Amino acid sequence: MADETFDIVVVGAGMAGASLAAELAEHARVLVLEGEDRPGYHTTGRSAAFWTESYGGPGVQPLTSVSGPLLAQLGMVAPRMALTIGRVEQAQEVEAFARTYADLGVEVEVLDHAGLQAHVPGLRPEWTCGALEPSCSDIDVAGLHAHYLTKLREGGAELWCRARLTQARRSASGWQLTLADGRVIRTAIVVNAAGAWADPVATLCGARPLGIMPLRRTIAQLRVAPEVPERLPLVLDIAERFYFKPDAGRLWLSPHDETPSDPCDAAPDELDVAVAIERLEHVVDWAVERVEHRWAGLRSFAPDRLPVYGFDALVPGLFWFAGQGGFGIQTAPAAARLAAGLVLGRTSGDIDPAPYSPLRFGG
Ligand SMILES: Cc1cc2nc3c(=O)[nH]c(=O)nc-3n(C[C@H](O)[C@H](O)[C@H](O)COP(=O)(O)OP(=O)(O)OC[C@H]3O[C@@H](n4cnc5c(N)ncnc54)[C@H](O)[C@@H]3O)c2cc1C
Repeated sequence: MADETFDIVVVGAGMAGASLAAELAEHARVLVLEGEDRPGYHTTGRSAAFWTESYGGPGVQPLTSVSGPLLAQLGMVAPRMALTIGRVEQAQEVEAFARTYADLGVEVEVLDHAGLQAHVPGLRPEWTCGALEPSCSDIDVAGLHAHYLTKLREGGAELWCRARLTQARRSASGWQLTLADGRVIRTAIVVNAAGAWADPVATLCGARPLGIMPLRRTIAQLRVAPEVPERLPLVLDIAERFYFKPDAGRLWLSPHDETPSDPCDAAPDELDVAVAIERLEHVVDWAVERVEHRWAGLRSFAPDRLPVYGFDALVPGLFWFAGQGGFGIQTAPAAARLAAGLVLGRTSGDIDPAPYSPLRFGG
């Protein structure tokens, strides 16, 4: 049987690979390879599902802010609000945080303890200041991922599951890719959207790894008393030691852990769950009745914690779409459009791609 030939092969069908393939599908013959039985099994299926403009830092904020209206147009967001809280000795940090994002055009309001209590009943008195972001929303992550999978198919792209890339050889005529089951594919461009496996995939393509590090993040779903108000904002610690938000009468709580990990099917550690609960008990007077469910996923960061979008410095035809960290859902629409423009060699409007280029790490 002759090898199948494509213009672009995207490795990974999480949010990154699916969204970029959806943007490329109408312009080229695109194949998405997913090593697992189904797309979204790894990090994409494990997120906390929020969109908030301050999350990821000022370098990520343009991608998040541009994505907001696009997510709203798709009907994938619902109002939540975010509240970043601090103790009395952290008042200056909270104010600096609010100023940084207000200067970037984000709506932020500084609150005192009474203001915080109006949003977080049962808040302990030592939490005296906070920054409220009214624009923060919940994202329908499964809906957004399904939207991109549908769009890529409608655009004519193919998605192959149980299709793990194991070898990549480059010659003057392009790439020859070999899958774990022996199938061989030819393509001009390989897109590395392999999440936690971004560096290993780059290595098998003959490129220098960029130091993209998977860090484990844990979430526990708790039943608490009194029942969590559905209008509770996403509550984040200014010192990044916890966040929590409501989900259908339950609380999703994270200890904000960042444990370095090899790329793998991440599992929660009971100690991280216990640490999260202990921290929660210092924030509110709610009783934790039960841990109903817990999960973990790998958030993958480049050394400077900005995402990596662009062609490799040395290996022609290898495009990086990696390092989506803890913001790969909330930035997906803008990131996919920006990266599609770069893959196709077209300039596209509103965001400067330079800060995200792999060239920033040298050749
Ligand atoms: C607990 C947690 C909470 C989070 N909360 C949020 C949030 O609230 N908002 C937000 O925006 N982001 C959040 N994130 C981050 C977000 O989930 C990620 O940035 C995003 O899912 C990354 O998508 P991805 O496609 O890069 O990775 P993945 O979803 O992991 O997809 C990569 C895919 O590549 C495949 N693959 C790897 N190697 C190969 C190969 N050789 N051949 C074929 N396929 C391969 C893998 O099987 C995998 O399916 C959170 C993450 C975690 C863990």
